[in-house]
Amino acid sequence: MNGNVIDGKAVAAKIREETAAKVAELKAKYGKVPGLAVVIVGERKDSQTYVRMKKKACEEVGIASFGADLPESATQAEVLAVVAAFNANPDVHGILVQLPLPKHIDEQAVLGAISVEKDVDGFHPLNIGRLAMKGREPLFTPCTPLGCMVLLERCGIPIKGRRAVVVGRSNIVGMPAALLLNKRDATVTVVHSATPKAEAEAICRQADIIIAAAGQAQLVRGSWVKPGAAIIDVGTNPIDDKTKASGYRLVGDAHFDECKAVAGAITPVPGGVGPMTIAILLRNTAESGERFLTGAVKVSGAEKKQERKGLAKLLPTREQLASPLPVLAAAVGVAAGAVLQRATAGRR
Ligand code: NAP
Repeated sequence: MNGNVIDGKAVAAKIREETAAKVAELKAKYGKVPGLAVVIVGERKDSQTYVRMKKKACEEVGIASFGADLPESATQAEVLAVVAAFNANPDVHGILVQLPLPKHIDEQAVLGAISVEKDVDGFHPLNIGRLAMKGREPLFTPCTPLGCMVLLERCGIPIKGRRAVVVGRSNIVGMPAALLLNKRDATVTVVHSATPKAEAEAICRQADIIIAAAGQAQLVRGSWVKPGAAIIDVGTNPIDDKTKASGYRLVGDAHFDECKAVAGAITPVPGGVGPMTIAILLRNTAESGERFLTGAVKVSGAEKKQERKGLAKLLPTREQLASPLPVLAAAVGVAAGAVLQRATAGRR
């Protein structure tokens, strides 16, 4: 911490260092390193930048990176075939599908097709379900919310028995953040877009911990914060700034200056939660690699059956099977392409 400002970059650097040590240990012991496959569909510039950053980060800690870049026009069957190929590839221990997917592709179907044992993003319903249930643990927890928890823990901020508010309830940040806080015995309230603003303010003012993940620039004001509370600001919102060459700058969901004056601890934007997301992705991948290499992956028979049932829904329909050639040709072609597309340093 610098004063009351949490240094997310420093915590993330430490996690990357620990992950690199784990990867080196696995390589020395088993002669293999963990592998992460990143699937991207379409040409969105922001998604391509995130994917490049993830691949570079993998290389830096010694994780092997695999990639499949599909065009915007790719069909759902083609995307599912790529996922299936990575599910079957023993050198791949983590699979990540970059979101958002093009509108014609069913995100649920694609995320649900990732093997639960390789779901390093933690978005598979089985992993989210386990996160929600008492006495169960997911194989993976979504990276951004877990990054928030690690920041709290490593900064020595108590969670058990404290009042926590999560602003936002999305599947990728707010909802899993609330589940995680609940698992760590905080008393959790979630506010969302239907919560009247005055009520959100009053609820936040009672909180010892605020996780702000609404995607609303500077929504949480100083008046919303209980003196001494911890604020983890997930938001990354561009606002106009004529002093910058780009014409904009990024701000969080909390008004930093106002909140910093009242809070006991606060993450900046940028430099707070952002660097943690990739660091946790690397750590999740290394943990997955370790589970596979040591043979410790444990998924119960019932859950396997459940997963197979889910996958069965994704298989071609009777009508498609009546003329299977186009489906099979697409699936085999894309799967082969994906396997061949192993990304190596410098190639991208
Ligand atoms: P999202 O899918 O748009 O969800 C936003 C959530 O905030 C929704 O649950 C929404 O409520 C709620 N919300 C919207 N306006 C609100 C308001 N005025 N008061 C209270 N709640 C409100 O966004 P997301 O994917 O969760 O991302 C949230 C923010 O985090 C974004 O700025 C995003 O860029 C950032 N982010 C950062 C990282 C990182 O690594 N740093 C990673 C992921 C996301 P409803 O459910 O009622 O619609």
